[in-house]
Amino acid sequence: MNSIYGYTKEQLEDYFLSKGEKKFKALQVFEWLYVHKNSDVDSWSNLKKELREEIKKDFSFEVPKIIREERDTLTRKYLFELQDGEHIESVVMFHDYGISICVSSQVGCNMGCAFCESGRRKKVRNLEAYELVTQILEIENNLKERISSVVIMGIGEPLDNYDNVLNFIRIINDAKGLAIGIRHITLSTSGLVPKIYQLMQEKIQINLAVSLHAPNDEIRNKIMKVNQVYNISQLMRAIKDYIAVTSRRVTIEYVMLKEINDSKKCALELANLLHGLNIYVNLIPYNETSHINFSKSDAKTIKEFAKVLKEQGINVTIRKEFGGKISAACGQLRSKEVEE
Ligand code: SAH
Ligand code: SF4
Repeated sequence: MNSIYGYTKEQLEDYFLSKGEKKFKALQVFEWLYVHKNSDVDSWSNLKKELREEIKKDFSFEVPKIIREERDTLTRKYLFELQDGEHIESVVMFHDYGISICVSSQVGCNMGCAFCESGRRKKVRNLEAYELVTQILEIENNLKERISSVVIMGIGEPLDNYDNVLNFIRIINDAKGLAIGIRHITLSTSGLVPKIYQLMQEKIQINLAVSLHAPNDEIRNKIMKVNQVYNISQLMRAIKDYIAVTSRRVTIEYVMLKEINDSKKCALELANLLHGLNIYVNLIPYNETSHINFSKSDAKTIKEFAKVLKEQGINVTIRKEFGGKISAACGQLRSKEVEE
């Protein structure tokens, strides 16, 4: 049985139309689920009893369970158990402007980036749309606070789970869903070029972040297997086209790996690659992990790298390091539970 939390409003409208009902029932259901956060169908007073029975028969309402929570001053990490016993993590970050959440999009990841903990564990399966939606719903219930922005930067490659991720975005963005502003939703991809083309046709104004991490194919081939399929020139063309079609600025993510991609030469080469584009670069201090032999660049090297980019007229920020003892800044979630 399909979980009701995986349905967009349009899909629920189709459901009600197929039952000979008016499509605005979908709106009422969305309000119960996401505004009142009430999944007790019997109490949905504006729907008649027979219809409530049908709904109970046709949908499941189960949500993944939070089985562990770790707290730090500015972050909280949640471990979820899914119905089939798999585990995923989400991280919440408290900012002065609100609360953001980093969600996982797959169980494991097949992209195999050399520096990434998530990729050490092969993809087991995609997450269903409802498993994405309920990460937010459950954590909002846990925090008793509203989450205002979402980054799809946890475990998994979101564009390798395209349809579910897109439905997830539609559900949380719906004004009668979780009403998370479209410009407060960021999707990070390792660079699946055909999917970037598909995404630009969707007419959704999300923020796109691309994990570039290297200024040339030689380095990128070594650290990101995906580059052997879609190289930098193909990726840059897709980014240019994305900007032209959507008129949106794209974020270029660049993880700073000591003596791999952090030299002044790399910075100049990167600036050259990005000149004149409506982008900004987010330098990510690498989170060292116990299993992988990459080291983080020194703070000074990162600052110098940023300075070179700035001098070349490239907008750049250095990502704030969250995590502390949780050691799970978004994008580097560890599969602790699996290893234990
Ligand atoms: N698969 C997508 C989204 C999830 S990873 C992607 O690769 O873009 C989110 C970001 O975290 C990516 O930029 C990824 O390269 C980065 N990342 C992975 N491991 C990291 C680590 N140990 N420290 C810092 N950033 C890391
Ligand atoms: Fe997958 Fe992203 Fe990690 Fe690469 S960096 S292995 S794409 S989660």
